[in-house]
Amino acid sequence: MGFNVAIDGPAGAGKSTIAKLVAKETGFIYVDTGAMYRALAVHFINEGLDGEDVSAIETACEGASVSIRYEDGIQKVFLNGKDVSTLIRQENVGNMASKSSTVPKVREKLLELQRNLAIKEDVIMDGRDIGTNILPQAEVKIYLTASVSTRAKRRFDELMEKGISCNYDEIYHDIEDRDFRDMNRETAPLKQAEDAILIDSSNLTIEEVVCEILKYIKKCRN
Ligand code: C5P
Repeated sequence: MGFNVAIDGPAGAGKSTIAKLVAKETGFIYVDTGAMYRALAVHFINEGLDGEDVSAIETACEGASVSIRYEDGIQKVFLNGKDVSTLIRQENVGNMASKSSTVPKVREKLLELQRNLAIKEDVIMDGRDIGTNILPQAEVKIYLTASVSTRAKRRFDELMEKGISCNYDEIYHDIEDRDFRDMNRETAPLKQAEDAILIDSSNLTIEEVVCEILKYIKKCRN
C-alpha cells in the first residue's frame, strides 16, 4: 500500500491547486477524482441524457470506460480510449458531473480505479468521499473548505481573468446548488471524516495551506 493523502471538500475550495503543489513537494502522484466523474459526464452528454434521469444514466454506464494515464506527471483522463482531459473542464460537463455523481452506479464504476491507484502508489487524491469512503485508511486526511462567498469570488475572478463574462450571483447560487447535491446525496455524501483535519482557506494564502498540509504529512511519515 502506498502512503495516502486524502483531500476532500466542496467545489471551489482550492483542492486541486493545493494538491498539485503538495504532490510536487512530496513526489506523490496527484489523483483528481473529479476528472473521472467529469469524463463519465461527457459520455452522458454525448448520449443526450438528462442529468436527473437516473435509470438512463445507469444504463449508459455500461457503455463507458474511464481510464487515466500520467504524461510528464500530469493526469490525463480517457473516455472509451479518447483523451477528454480538456473537454471535461467545460461548464456544462461540470454541471452534468454534479448531477450524475449522485447515482450509485456511477460511483461504483469509479471506486476500483481510484482504490487501485492508491494501492500501487504514494498518492494525494482529491474529491468528495476520499477520506470517508474510498481510502478510509489514508494516513493523512484533510477537509479543505472556504465560505461560499470566498469560493464564488475566486471563481468569478478566475473567469474574468480568462476574459469570460460571468455573473457573481449566478456563480454563488451554482456553488450553493453543488454543495447541496454533494452533501445531501444518499451515496457517499461529502462530509468531513472524523479523523480529518479541517482547513478553512477563506483567510489563508495557497502557500499557507500547502505548508500546513506538508507539516501533517511530515508528522505522519516520521
Ligand atoms: O471536483 P470537480 O468539480 O472536478 O468534480 C466534478 C463533480 O464530480 C463534482 O461536482 C462532484 O459532485 C463530483 N465528485 C464526486 N466525488 C468525487 C469527486 C467529484 O461526487 N470524489
